Amino acid sequence: MEFEAVIGLEIHAQLATASKLFCNCPTSFGAAPNKHTCPVCLGLPGALPVLNEQVQEFAVQLGLATHCEIRLDSQFARKNYFYPDLPKAYQISQYDRPICEHGWVMIETEGGSKRIGITRIHIEEDAGKLVHDEAGESSFVDLNRAGTPLLEIVSEPDLRTPEEAKVYMETLHSLVTYLGVSEGDMEKGHLRCDANVSVRPKGQEQFGVRAEVKNLNSFRFIQQAVAYEIDRHREELLDGRKLIQETRLWDSERRVTFSMRSKEEAEEYRYFPDPDLPLVQLSEARVAEIRNSLPELPDAKQERYQQEQGLSSYDAGVLVASRETAEFFEETLVEGAEPKLACNWIMGDLTRVMNESGCGIRETRITPAQLAELTDLLRKGEISSKIAKSVFEEVRNSGKTPARIVEEKGLKQVSDISELGRLADELIAENPEQVEQYRAGKTKVLGFFVGQMMKQTKGQGNPQMINQLLRERLDA
Ligand code: ADP
Ligand code: MG
Ligand code: ZN
Repeated sequence: MEFEAVIGLEIHAQLATASKLFCNCPTSFGAAPNKHTCPVCLGLPGALPVLNEQVQEFAVQLGLATHCEIRLDSQFARKNYFYPDLPKAYQISQYDRPICEHGWVMIETEGGSKRIGITRIHIEEDAGKLVHDEAGESSFVDLNRAGTPLLEIVSEPDLRTPEEAKVYMETLHSLVTYLGVSEGDMEKGHLRCDANVSVRPKGQEQFGVRAEVKNLNSFRFIQQAVAYEIDRHREELLDGRKLIQETRLWDSERRVTFSMRSKEEAEEYRYFPDPDLPLVQLSEARVAEIRNSLPELPDAKQERYQQEQGLSSYDAGVLVASRETAEFFEETLVEGAEPKLACNWIMGDLTRVMNESGCGIRETRITPAQLAELTDLLRKGEISSKIAKSVFEEVRNSGKTPARIVEEKGLKQVSDISELGRLADELIAENPEQVEQYRAGKTKVLGFFVGQMMKQTKGQGNPQMINQLLRERLDA
């Protein structure tokens, strides 16, 4: 029997605000435990929450960027549950009146473009953290993170493969970082996702029983955990067993999921409107203002690179995936670089450097101006592409400009037609045997002559010119 997977993601994005959602405590990372707390985020009786305005604006920005309807009077609700990292014994979230609903994003996979529905985006607060001692005897509560603002982005069950799930998460990562809504640092847990996975016989309309895998914090883990769940469900179904709706965890060491608990129903949280907080009021005019101030988003940028710079959809897509990379690319254009050449260097050598040293494009020790100059030397034929690679490394090591390195090291490509012509004449005169062979039809001998010319010019001879000059003489 053939099966099909159905996947929906709930993504939590930590917002890039300086202070918490309902108090003035800082959101910064790394302070001593419980230093960033106050009566509000400690949940002390009588303390009243006050909404951080910046959060409302961030929510609307992301909602507009994902084609959502924006609710002008959204409401906070209390989600009640007991856990030591939650001092109030309820989390302030949004329930039946979230700030954004009914949106979508496009994702690009090997299989083409696909539209993924966004059910809702709502504002909520994060919980604190439990720290367990090594002996396993005591646990400690750190409430520095309690009350940090999050946006929860819930997708429709429109995803069908592990790859689609990963790309969808990458697409949202790209959106939140373009908007500046979140710093999107995956290692700091700024973007975490719960993946809901079920499997059904192909052709069946009704969804299968789902499992929810909690707290996936890397693109790779999402893909691996979803793939694992699909296989597990398929096997259970093939063996004739019944699946239960449950919450599971991903073990990234063993690459398996394991059961945490059977799934609680929404009603058990006893959601109700938070009486301490007024409706979140927005005017149409304010929404329009936010819409007008949105930066150029990845889709539009990609389209523009294709139209204005003549790049392929693939190249443009790679450049716009990260806002930093796109900005770097645009700066090289301002410096006069030829778009396709600059793009090739960014996708090639610069990306290699970033992968090797795990750094961002701004830490590669090559600036947009230097890259533009390098591509300019190449385009004008002043250096060969082989020499360009060594100049690139030299720029990174010495910080000198490409033109200066070429000048100082005498790396200029020899394109002097009379000098190259004279060398070709000499070579032909000195090697009558090879000339004979070439003229008798062994045209591979041309490679020998090219090699000799390159040797004579220390690799700096213009290859096209050398080929042409030799042919003219040998074919004569
Ligand atoms: P909760 O997890 O809080 O109960 P929902 O029921 O709204 O919330 O579902 C959360 C996520 O699960 C959504 O992203 C939705 O698309 C997805 N989902 C719902 N049903 C299924 C299913 N049968 N298979 C896979 N994903 C599902
Ligand atoms: Mg859920
Ligand atoms: Zn506080």
